[in-house]
Amino acid sequence: MKNTPEWKQYEWLISKIFHDSYYSIKTTILHDANIKGQYSERSRQIDILVEDKNFKTIIECKYYKNPLDVKGIESFLGMYNDVKADYGIVVALNGFSKSANKRVSEYNDKIKLEHIDLENAFNSFNYQSYGKVNDICNNCNNDFINGTMVPGLLLWKGGYSLEVGGILWIFNLSKCLKCGNKTLYCDSCGVVKDIGKNEFCCEYSKRFLDLLENDTL
Ligand SMILES: [Zn+2]
Ligand SMILES: [Zn+2]
Repeated sequence: MKNTPEWKQYEWLISKIFHDSYYSIKTTILHDANIKGQYSERSRQIDILVEDKNFKTIIECKYYKNPLDVKGIESFLGMYNDVKADYGIVVALNGFSKSANKRVSEYNDKIKLEHIDLENAFNSFNYQSYGKVNDICNNCNNDFINGTMVPGLLLWKGGYSLEVGGILWIFNLSKCLKCGNKTLYCDSCGVVKDIGKNEFCCEYSKRFLDLLENDTL
């Protein structure tokens, strides 16, 4: 795990930023997704794919030492057209060249270029979200150094509930970008639990997970 390449860790930070700003109950956000190109008819890898019912956004991370040039932009535009995305965002560690900026002017409000350096990326995540739920994975947070090593960031999905006798039990689910560990947050108990361990804060969280596993929610 210590040898995770820097570009991959940067991608985790960017994924966390966009997950947290785009996530809603109606939105699907996939990291390292694959979709089939309409023209190329082959599978295209997308760093972050954000999908609503009728709207598809693709986000690409560029961990480059130099500003992204026009060539880099054109390869993104090629993919943008191929997968028929509605909106595209290119995130670059060291910004964009002048010509790269000019190159996207034709796409006006459909392509956005965002310069996010490492410091800003690191400062973007909170240790707490939703008031009390941690953003960092318990399963793999043992040895990260803030600013140089990215911890296991949790991508939370909210909006889950279970009704028992007229009372709503609210849950959030998360998956760690680094180790893939899944955790459940029970709002009623205020407890975060590792899903794989079969330990439950209350009977409702157990019941909720059973329903979730059987896809009957
Ligand atoms: Zn983890
Ligand atoms: Zn509970």
